[in-house]
Formats: sequence, structure tokens, C-alpha cells
Amino acid sequence: MPQVAADSDALRRYVAQEKGLALSALKAVRVLRRSIDARQRNIFVNLKVRVYVNEEPQDDEYERVDYPNVEGRPQVIVVGAGPGGLFAALRLIELGLRPIVLERGKDVHERKRDLATIARTQTVDGESNYCFGEGGAGAYSDGKLFTRSKKRGDVEKILRVFCQHGASTAILADAHPHIGTDRLPAVIEAMRNTIIRCGGEVHFQTKMTGFMIDHSPLTIDHSVVGVKAQQTVNGQRSIVNEKEFLGPVILATGHSARDVYRYLAAEGIEIEAKGIAVGVRLEHPSALIDQIQYHRKEGRGQWLPAAEYSFVTQVEGRGVYSFCMCPGGFVIPAATGPEQIVVNGMSPASRASQWSNSGMVVEIRPEDLENNYLPQQGGHTPSALKVMRFQEELEQLCWQQGNRKQTAPAQRMADFVNGRLSSDLPRSSYAPGLVASPLHFWLPKPIANRLQQGFRTFGRQAHGFLTNEAVLIGVETRTSSPIRILRNNDNLQHIRLKGLFPCGEGAGYAGGIVSAAIDGERCAQMCALYLENHCCSTM
Ligand SMILES: Cc1cc2nc3c(=O)[nH]c(=O)nc-3n(C[C@H](O)[C@H](O)[C@H](O)COP(=O)(O)OP(=O)(O)OC[C@H]3O[C@@H](n4cnc5c(N)ncnc54)[C@H](O)[C@@H]3O)c2cc1C
Repeated sequence: MPQVAADSDALRRYVAQEKGLALSALKAVRVLRRSIDARQRNIFVNLKVRVYVNEEPQDDEYERVDYPNVEGRPQVIVVGAGPGGLFAALRLIELGLRPIVLERGKDVHERKRDLATIARTQTVDGESNYCFGEGGAGAYSDGKLFTRSKKRGDVEKILRVFCQHGASTAILADAHPHIGTDRLPAVIEAMRNTIIRCGGEVHFQTKMTGFMIDHSPLTIDHSVVGVKAQQTVNGQRSIVNEKEFLGPVILATGHSARDVYRYLAAEGIEIEAKGIAVGVRLEHPSALIDQIQYHRKEGRGQWLPAAEYSFVTQVEGRGVYSFCMCPGGFVIPAATGPEQIVVNGMSPASRASQWSNSGMVVEIRPEDLENNYLPQQGGHTPSALKVMRFQEELEQLCWQQGNRKQTAPAQRMADFVNGRLSSDLPRSSYAPGLVASPLHFWLPKPIANRLQQGFRTFGRQAHGFLTNEAVLIGVETRTSSPIRILRNNDNLQHIRLKGLFPCGEGAGYAGGIVSAAIDGERCAQMCALYLENHCCSTM
């Protein structure tokens, strides 16, 4: 019963009664696993619990990681303070190495002010936004922590490290763990404090601009031995300092650092185009999603969380699916520069907003772009960058449709499916505002058509889902990296440049917070092995 599962006293009483125990003998009930079974009208919350009878719990709720002092130890440069970079830095410390973290954006609290100004000024700071700054795209994300990664041990370690830095221990039990955008900044700040307390360094507003590569004729291999960086104040406007940082490099710059991809392409550093998925954010009233998913008029009631959904289908050989669903959340402006609109979603820990949203996206493969998805804007694009270029063009087109501001073009869902312009729009959580626009008309046809067919399918699967109460908001393009930085599977180093460890989502090896964090840990481990085997000037 949801009510019993939601209330620890009620749960104790229930367990005592079920097991025929005196309530006073039951010292504690610890929830080990929690999931919701909402397939029928009768909804169950399945719990796996550990019961303490006539004894208090002695053990810690979870195993903690020991972070030693690493002052004076060999240093490793970690570029990017998203989940990939932060978990790489923490793992380096565990392994006795000293991380120097470089982050182009601001610290997680200062950054918040720049996010707030997007709706007010209709402009985006190119160095401090929903993707750039301490915590990376993970900081003001939704904080869902489920992953398709099969290695449970790795996933549990990541969740434990989050708990050690202040996340609720509920994430260790929940089938769909979620931290919430309001709780993430404090967790990220605590991680930074661990890095600094142990002797590592974290530099904000410090943007890597290039690698230092050892071209010595005495070595056969080319090695990355450090990075060049610009330290700036007030975003990108006033450059104050050019600096060099020495050490092997974990490159965890995320999927939105297009300047990094352009630098790699210009330097002939091996990268390749990779498939992504693009589409729109779809926003429903959360009460409606609750009614549909919990199969009852009264919706979630007092004891159940805002309902989730997940849809997937194939249309004309490409996947169409819901992505990063945020129950009780908000749609947010996630662009990283001027003249682009990008939307995404997030939710606070309570998931109590009036809206539920998700990305609704269509799979795009690099070869699809041969068929002129969008009119090309001229100029030569190296083939490795072509998916990124497509993303950019679609974001720019969306900005043009949105009155050249952050007001996003939008259309009611049934109108979109029926090819009609919406005469008005429903209320929305998207703070910069919406403008009615015929998305069915200007989205590339292979995307619009597949979304229309996909929505019809989803509407048949979930009665009431395809409705004009829902609104499509354009465009969702940053679902994963459009580029893969080529690395060896065994040692995670770049295929040609030694001492360079492409890491996380931006390198094309992760999709989401947990998988980026796992990849960060693995890169740190391989970097430690590399340092063991190489005499390094910084040792
Ligand atoms: C709104 C939103 C909601 C999301 N919700 C979820 C969710 O619920 N669950 C989930 O699993 N995932 C979610 N994601 C995706 C998730 O945040 C990313 O998958 C994850 O953050 C990727 O981690 P990363 O460390 O590889 O890269 P990022 O988090 O992108 O971090 C890269 C960092 O590198 C920095 N950087 C870039 N270039 C440079 C440079 N030249 N020099 C120095 N620093 C640089 C950037 O400023 C950034 O801080 C969400 C993303 C967004 C935007």
C-alpha cells in the first residue's frame, strides 16, 4: 500500500503486525529496494526491507570512500567539472593522484544567477548556462540516476559517492533514483570541497584552449603533456590570463563544447561523427499523466509520486522515443550561445510542479544527413562535424522561429499531429515564454513525420496521451554527443595521442550522469596506470 510505504512509522507497524512482533522489539526497518508497480488500478509499492529485532543497526547505511591527502603527488589535469570530470577527480584522489580541475564556467552558486537572467533578458551567457559551469550539464539537470549500464557494482559506487556528499540515501533503494535539481548544487559543492581539502585544485572560468603536445623526435609517440588555458572574468569578454597546466589530461568537456570539437578537427586529432536523436520537449499537465499512468481519475493521490512514462517505437526504420522524462518538472532553456534555442527538462526533488515533460526525439544517423535534412548554409564542414553542424542549424532555425529570442516556438500536440497551427497555447513551465508556431511545417520532414506517427502510436498505447492539453516546445537537440573522440578500448587513451583520456558524454562514451561518472572513474584508473608506466615531468 502506497500509504504504508510512504510513512516510516506506518511501515514499522505493518512489519510488526505481519511478522507477529511486538512493536517495541522492532528497533528499525531499513528499506533496501523500492519500486512501484502501477500496471493495474491497484497500485503496489514493492519494498525489500531489513528488519532489526531487539538490536539497533550497527553498520553504516553504506560503505564510504576514503579520500587521502594528495598534496605533492603527481598531478593530472581534468578538463570539465561535470559528472565525468568530478568523478574522475575524486577517483584520482582515491588512487593517490592530485587532480587539477579546469572549468570554463562559474561555481555552481554563481552560475545560478546567470540561469535566472536567461528568461529575464532573453539572452544566454556563452560561458555560464545550463550546460557550462561547475557540475556541468548535470548540475541543474533533473538528477535522475538510472542508467542502462549493466555493471551494478559500478553504479552502486557512484550512488554511494553521491550520498557521501549529501544526497539522500533513498537513492540507494529506489528503482528510479532521483536527486532533484534543487538538491544537486549542494552535493556538487561538497564534491569540490573534498577535492580541495585533499590537496587538489579547482579553477573556475578557466577554459582549455589547446593541448601541449610533446613532439620530441626522441619519442615515437606524440604525448599530451598538458593544456593551455585562458582564465577569464565576466564570461568570455575580458581575458585576463593565459596559463599552462602540466600533466596527462582527462578531457571531460561534455557534448556542448563545440569549440573543443572544432579545435580537435582543426588539429587533425582523430574524431568521428556519431548518431544523435533530435525532436521536441512535450509538456502535459502532470495531473493528466498521473491519471493515465495510475489508471484512475483521482490521479496520484496523497501517497504516490508524480507518474513517469516511457514510450518507444520505430517509424520508417528509425527509433522514436521519449527521453529524459521529468515528472512534476519544468522545461528549461539549455542553449549555450547566442542565436540558438535548445530545450531540456528538470524537476526538483519533490516533483510537485503542475507539469510533466519529456524529450520526444527521433534517431538520426550520420548517413541520414546526406538527404538534406535542412538546407545547408554554405561553407565546407568536415565530415566528422556534420552531425554537430546539423544540430547547430536546427537550433538556429528554431531561434528564428521563436522571434529571435529565447521565447520558444510551440504547438499543441494534436494540432501538430493534424498539421494545424495552434490558435492559442496552454500555460507552460517554460519561463522565457512560448510563441505559437507550425512545428509540423518547419521541422525537417523526416523528423516531423516520424514524430507525428510516433505520437499516434503512443496515443493508442496510452488513452488520453495524444491531446491538445499537451504542448510541443522546440527544439531538443542535445540528447547526446554528435561526435566521438576515438580512444583505445583497453587503456582509454586517444588512439594516437598518449596521455590524453577522452572522457564522458562529450567524448561519446556516456549518456547521462551515472554513465559519465562511471566513465570518469575508469579514465582516472587508466590514467593512474599510465603514470605508473611513464616517467612524467610532473611526478
Ligand atoms: C537540463 C538537463 C537535464 C538533464 N537531466 C538528466 C537526468 O535527469 N539524468 C541524467 O542521467 N542525465 C541528465 N542530463 C544529462 C547529463 O547532465 C549529462 O549526461 C552529464 O552531465 C554528462 O556529463 P559530462 O561530465 O560528460 O559532461 P558535462 O556535464 O556536459 O560537463 C562538461 C563540463 O566541461 C566544461 N567545459 C567544456 N569545455 C571546456 C573547456 N574548453 N575548458 C574547461 N571546461 C570546459 C563545461 O563547462 C561543463 O561543465 C541532463 C542534462 C540537462 C542539460
